[in-house]
Amino acid sequence: MRLSQFFLPTLKETPAEAQIASHRLMLRAGMVRQLSAGIYSWLPLGYRVLKKIEQIVREEQDAIGCNEVLMPTIQPAELWQESGRYEDYGLEMLRITDRHDRKMLFGPTNEEVITDIFRKDVRSYKQLPQMLYHIQWKFRDEIRPRFGVMRGREFLMKDAYSFDVDYESSRHAYNKMFLAYCRTFTRLGVKAIPMVADTGPIGGDLSHEFIILAETGESEVFCDKKWLDKDLTGRGVDLNDRTGLENWVQTTLEDYAATEDKHDPANSPISGDDMIATRGIEVGHIFHFGAKYSEPMGATILGPDGKEVPVQMGSYGIGVSRLVGALIEASHDENGIIWPESVAPYKVGLINLRTGDDECDAACEDVYAKLHNAGIEVLYDDRDIRAGGKFADMDLIGLPWQIVIGPKGLKAGVVELKNRKSGERIEVTLEAALNQIGA
Ligand code: ATP
Ligand code: MG
Repeated sequence: MRLSQFFLPTLKETPAEAQIASHRLMLRAGMVRQLSAGIYSWLPLGYRVLKKIEQIVREEQDAIGCNEVLMPTIQPAELWQESGRYEDYGLEMLRITDRHDRKMLFGPTNEEVITDIFRKDVRSYKQLPQMLYHIQWKFRDEIRPRFGVMRGREFLMKDAYSFDVDYESSRHAYNKMFLAYCRTFTRLGVKAIPMVADTGPIGGDLSHEFIILAETGESEVFCDKKWLDKDLTGRGVDLNDRTGLENWVQTTLEDYAATEDKHDPANSPISGDDMIATRGIEVGHIFHFGAKYSEPMGATILGPDGKEVPVQMGSYGIGVSRLVGALIEASHDENGIIWPESVAPYKVGLINLRTGDDECDAACEDVYAKLHNAGIEVLYDDRDIRAGGKFADMDLIGLPWQIVIGPKGLKAGVVELKNRKSGERIEVTLEAALNQIGA
């Protein structure tokens, strides 16, 4: 992509309404614009990141055999009356009346809809286990939408649901999801710590939150230092080995115990020296809730003994749009965002120091074509503006690599290669630069 053709409305000034770094940087980098309190439009740069995160989330759901579906955003109130949550959910639910005076709502979550889908088509334990997920916009009328996309009113969530015949197999589904979450966050380039959580209005008997450590987060976290180096990819854990997976989840949780605000750190199992007391951002939340919805909504199945039982369920959320802000909160400096390579909107920023100079233009076009042919995503700053502005914008938007081409370097046969994360700049031949970034 050429910057001259790209819609990238960056801001020099710090927007007054933004209280935390990620919100400021998302506005300054032209990633989002607010339409109304807690409701955002995603501009090209922000939307690219959102889609990359979504795709990693999707791949890790697919990898554990979870099926992607797409449920509507608008739901009928009757389903929520059946589950008993229509009144309970309270003011966060955006209620709508259609032209026939039917009560509808903009979905804040989808347990009722998925249970309804299930009960209409599944009759026997032989059709189980099943896991379904979708990635869809949700609406919650948050009392204080804030911190940009981190606590929005409209936000993108991945929500998955598991269906099993009995508690043991349902627990296995929960463990698979736990592993998928650990792998997802690792691929996103962040450490997300699983913490035992309250089940809240979703209900149920077992729940974990996944928390990214960041000083500006809304949750307090006390955790063991060991977490920072822990490999959470669960290499070698076999997905169908129930006991092996259960053991992995248990040891992961026990070895690296983390607690939240209401716990007194003095009573925590972590010894003083190993303890990190900080704050964190909740990016995922998983629940096992058994028959909480299947019972009132009549989602029953015939078990192996011929008896009809309510299906055992769990639900599993990831805040996809919140993650965009959370990743920035976890990785930025005074000059701007530092994207992990897996979600960077482009891998390379190409800076032409003297647009209009024949030699510089030709050299940049050549590099641009080479990167393109090698399948490497590149944003080429071909704008006719001062070099200082190009450097500032490139640091602000945080692409992992910058290739800087100017007349002096060209004479000496070199380009400058900058690593955004380390800040290291080296002068190398073009071939060496391309080699370094994998072209
Ligand atoms: P919170 O305690 O932050 O309000 P929650 O417990 O209400 O979160 P869940 O119902 O578990 O959230 O939703 C699943 C995920 O969706 C959360 O882990 C979070 O990442 C994301 N999420 C929830 N509310 C919002 C919001 N208002 N804006 C953006 N993301 C959200
Ligand atoms: Mg909430």
